[in-house]
Amino acid sequence: MFYPFYRKFIGLLLMLVFTGGLYSQKLRYTHADSLRGGIGKSRIWWDLKHYDLHVAFNYADSSISGKNSIRYKVLEADQIMQIDLMEPMRLDSVVQDGKTCTFSKDGNAYFVQLSNAQHKEAIKTLITYFHGKPHVAKQPPWDGGLIWTKDARQRPWISIACQGMASSVWFPSKDHQYDEVDSCSLHFTVPSDLVAVSNGRMRGIDQISNGKAVYHWEVKNPINNYNIIPYIGYYANFKDTVQGEGGVLQLDYWVLQENVELAKKQFAQVKPMLRCFEYWFGKYPFYEDGYKLVEAPYLGMEHQSAIAYGNKFKNGYLGTDLSLTGWGLKWDFIIVHESGHEWFGNNITVKDVADNWVHEGFTAYSECLFTQYLFGKKAASDYVIGTRIGVQNDEPIIADYNVNRDGSSDMYYKAANMLHGIRQIVNNDSLWRVMLRGLNSDFWHQTVSSRQVEDYMMKFLKLDLQKVFDQYLRTKQIPVLEYKLKENTFSFRWTNCVKHFDMPLKLEFADRDYWINPTEKWQKVELTSADFKIDPDFFVRTKKVN
Ligand SMILES: [Zn+2]
Repeated sequence: MFYPFYRKFIGLLLMLVFTGGLYSQKLRYTHADSLRGGIGKSRIWWDLKHYDLHVAFNYADSSISGKNSIRYKVLEADQIMQIDLMEPMRLDSVVQDGKTCTFSKDGNAYFVQLSNAQHKEAIKTLITYFHGKPHVAKQPPWDGGLIWTKDARQRPWISIACQGMASSVWFPSKDHQYDEVDSCSLHFTVPSDLVAVSNGRMRGIDQISNGKAVYHWEVKNPINNYNIIPYIGYYANFKDTVQGEGGVLQLDYWVLQENVELAKKQFAQVKPMLRCFEYWFGKYPFYEDGYKLVEAPYLGMEHQSAIAYGNKFKNGYLGTDLSLTGWGLKWDFIIVHESGHEWFGNNITVKDVADNWVHEGFTAYSECLFTQYLFGKKAASDYVIGTRIGVQNDEPIIADYNVNRDGSSDMYYKAANMLHGIRQIVNNDSLWRVMLRGLNSDFWHQTVSSRQVEDYMMKFLKLDLQKVFDQYLRTKQIPVLEYKLKENTFSFRWTNCVKHFDMPLKLEFADRDYWINPTEKWQKVELTSADFKIDPDFFVRTKKVN
């Protein structure tokens, strides 16, 4: 996902109007929020293994129908299973071992009464039949749903964007990020003049009656709920390969027929980008499924092994630079940002969207690392510092848990600047790199919490960064260094910060650096000169007091 900064601005404006500026509003959550965001009794006892998903798309009336065979492992014996499917879609019937199961409906959740005993460790399959006219996205990908549209030549173009809403907007599924499906087989029935592209590798095309065709795709790696996506349209395909850390990686590009030449030119930046990301994060996490860019009827999204590309073959963010430094115009924002998610978001996925900064913060930082790869460290610093312009400080980055709510859009560039500050404290790029690679290999294909990532970084870097994480992730405050300077006597302390905030800071003199360890208590040091500046790589404010 990317950066809906103006949406938050409007939200902030409204909040200022209604609350008179004090962000003390306690958010109220509904029963539906808990059903959707919590790991309830009817979810926790079974482990999702595989989806065998068959869906027919009817462009004429914007409807879909199909079946999803859900294979799972019984972790603890239980007889009631929560299956998620959002209105106005309809769950028609559910079958297990040839028997029809009864179910009750509670908003967008169905509770299936399983008739056969569920023995611990057993592998079972539940077949769900469904149909309906799924919710249509109004402004994809910022709001989710189906996209039934036309391309520039007025030909049908269909896809889905559903981060936040996720898979239950269109098919019956276990719609929570904590439990990823380990693999899936996808079978999309479309009019035979259209092409259906999806995640993983194509396994074949069947031409069937009534001028329809079925496209079969297979995903061999765990994939999160909002990343299983079809793209249906007048596509052309071209392929390439790159030699990577995991061997030869297949590169697969699907764009509208008239855009092939444009794409061949613009997508040339994919290979250096993948080399850069493998250098910093370790091998690409999905060699079995390949790497894919698919032209989409919306700006972009990190759909695993089928990245949505809608940046109109321009560099920058639709031709603009979010950092206002010029560096952001040197590469294609959507290619780079969404590909960074293959590591942070898809390889490492957070259990609860409240921790989405792990996806967006590290991925926003991957933009900085690619800038460094192309133009060096100074350019990278200028880029990440430039992106502070979009930071809102409107609410904490980490949101409330178990209610399917993510926090401030500061999960992008404020979190990226926090990481950049920590990198300065580490002050050892080879250690920093090994830590980033370690995250990806030790949390390989797993779902995690923010705490797990924080603890991993502190243990690996042998640094107590808890106050730094609490400051930047759990408050909306930017720490302020208050200081006094009398000749060479420098007094300083932290304010506007969490209790016991203790982030070290670097002072830059012409000929050397000097580290200070401010706390909330005033401290004093004798400097060799009064001519220094605070390292701008730290995202802090300063305030001179007398
Ligand atoms: Zn993103």
